[in-house]
Amino acid sequence: MTAEIEPVELPHMSIADDRDLSKVERELVAWLIESGPENAKCFMAQVPALRVYARCECGCPTVFFSVAGKRPKFANCGGAALAEAVATRTPTEVLGTTLMYCEDQLYGLELVLYAGQKAMYEYAWPQLNELIPHNQGLPYSHEA
Ligand SMILES: [Zn+2]
Repeated sequence: MTAEIEPVELPHMSIADDRDLSKVERELVAWLIESGPENAKCFMAQVPALRVYARCECGCPTVFFSVAGKRPKFANCGGAALAEAVATRTPTEVLGTTLMYCEDQLYGLELVLYAGQKAMYEYAWPQLNELIPHNQGLPYSHEA
């Protein structure tokens, strides 16, 4: 009998990683859920069970999550926005963070550069005190 090794499926443009979330990442995820749309709140229970299994290959802070060891069923679903926030530093430096979900689990935390003076990978996560929630028009609806 031959054991079949399943290919490791990673999100598009990502590389494998395996680590706990940093304090900053965990706080950011929890804050985005808290300040996000009402129907995002049901995801809070997953936050303690999050682990990073992949990160963006460009070197920016974007990370992808497993929940209690379970990866999203479709690594390449791309995720959909659950909660977003924007930090406007100057008119030419505007950063955003988007918390993504796929099916019923948290999928990843993405850094978005709306306007920047540097390369994507030179940015760190925005601070909580510079972020403004921006959740209008997010499509998520969760049947609990
Ligand atoms: Zn990146």
